[in-house]
Amino acid sequence: MSKLFIVDDDLLTSELLASAAEIVFTEIAVFNDAREFLEQSLSADDIILLDLQMPTLDGVETIRKLSQKNCQATLILMSGYDAGVLRSAEELAKDHGLTVAANLSKPIGIKKLTDLLSGLLSKQDLNQSQNPTEIPSPSITDETNAPFTPTADDLTRAIDEKQLLLYYQPQVDLTTNALSGVEALVRWQHPEHGMIYPDSFIPLAEQSGVIVRLTSAVIDMAVNQSALWQAQGKHIKISVNISAQNITSLLMPEQLKSLVKLNQLDPAMLMLEMTESALMGEITTSLDILTRLRLKGFQLSIDDFGTGFSSLSQLHRIPFTELKVDQSFVMDMVNDPQSCAIVETCIMLGHKLNMAVVAEGIEDAQTLKRLKQLNCDIGQGYHFAKPLSPENLIKWQANREGV
Ligand code: C2E
Ligand code: MG
Ligand code: MG
Repeated sequence: MSKLFIVDDDLLTSELLASAAEIVFTEIAVFNDAREFLEQSLSADDIILLDLQMPTLDGVETIRKLSQKNCQATLILMSGYDAGVLRSAEELAKDHGLTVAANLSKPIGIKKLTDLLSGLLSKQDLNQSQNPTEIPSPSITDETNAPFTPTADDLTRAIDEKQLLLYYQPQVDLTTNALSGVEALVRWQHPEHGMIYPDSFIPLAEQSGVIVRLTSAVIDMAVNQSALWQAQGKHIKISVNISAQNITSLLMPEQLKSLVKLNQLDPAMLMLEMTESALMGEITTSLDILTRLRLKGFQLSIDDFGTGFSSLSQLHRIPFTELKVDQSFVMDMVNDPQSCAIVETCIMLGHKLNMAVVAEGIEDAQTLKRLKQLNCDIGQGYHFAKPLSPENLIKWQANREGV
C-alpha cells in the first residue's frame, strides 16, 4: 500500500495539502522538519511531496540524504521560487538516481495535485498488474528474480549464437501521415533471462569494444530485413544506431557500400544515427568517414539532439541529413514552455540547415498536434507505436492503411 509523505515546514500549507490528498491516499504522514522525515523507512511505492525551502534541512540536502539512503520512492518537488530552481533541483535529484514525477510551483492547485497523485497511483497499479514486454528495465532479473549482470564474453557469445534481434519503431511523416521509415532497436533474447533491453548492455558493449561486432551484426540484420521487405515490394527506410568506435575505421564506408550493393539496396534507404557524444573523439577521422558515407549515398542523423554540449559546432561541420530532437524535451513540451521553446528552436535550426527534423518520444495527441503546428517533419513515439517485431510492424502498417 502506497503512503504519502508531505514534507513542508509551513504548517498551514502541509495541512491543506494533506486534506486535499485524503481523497486519494488512505495513509498520509506530515513532517514539518525534514530531519524527522529522514528517520522514516520508505518503500518503493511511497510518494514524497517535498518542499525545497525549509529552515532546518533544505530540499537539496534532503534529496542528497534520500539518495544516500537509496530511496526508491517517487518524489514530487514543490517550491515558491521560480521554475528554474525547481528544474535544477529535479535534475539534481535525477542525477542522484531518484525518481521525480513532477515539480510544482507554489501556490499549488488542489485539482492539479489530486490529478497528479491519482495518476501516479494508477500507474503503479498498472505496473503491478501487467507484465511489461516493451518497457526497458535497467536491472535485469529473470523469473526467479536472480539478477543477471552480463559480461563482455556473454555478449560476444550472444552475438555468435544469434541471440540479438531487431525491433522496428515506426517513424511517421507528419505532413502525409504515411510511414516514413523505422528505427532498428536491438534486443537480446536471452535463453534464460528473457528479453534484455539495450540500455542494459550497450554501455558494456561500448566499454569492452564488443560494440564493433555488435554494430556489424545489427547492420547485417537491418540490411537483410530491408532486402526481405524490398522483395515484398515494401520500401522502408531503416535507421540504425552507431557508436563512437564505429566511426574510427576508415574502411567502414567501403564495407558498408559493398554490403548494400551485395543486397541490391539503395544506400539512401539506410540512415546512420549517432549521438553528439559519439563525435567527441578523433574529429578529423570521424569527419572523413562521415563525409565519405554521405558521398556514397547513406543518410546521417544526429540523435538525442540537445543533450550534448557541442551541438552547434558539430552540426555545422558534419553533413547530417536529419536531426532528432531528444525525447526528454518532446515529452515535456506540452506542460513546460521552456522544453517547448527548445523543441521549436531545434526545428527551426534543423530546417535552416536543410535537415529533416524528427521528434522522438511522442506519447500523446496533444504533443503531436503541437509538433505539427511547429512544422516538425517526422514523429516517433509510443503514440504511434512501440518498437515492433518485423511481423507486427507490417500488421501495424496494414491496420493503419485499412488494408
Ligand atoms: P535511441 O536511439 O534514442 O532510441 C529511442 C529509445 O526511446 C528506444 O529505447 C525506444 O523504445 C524509446 N522510445 C521511443 N518512443 C518512445 C516514447 O514515446 N516514450 C518512451 N518513454 N520511450 C520511447 P530502446 O529501444 O530501449 O533503446 C535505448 C537506446 O539504446 C537507444 O536510444 C540507443 O541509444 C541504444 N540502442 C538501441 N539499439 C542500438 C544499437 O543497435 N546500437 C547501438 N549502438 N545503440 C543502440
Ligand atoms: Mg536512435
Ligand atoms: Mg534518441
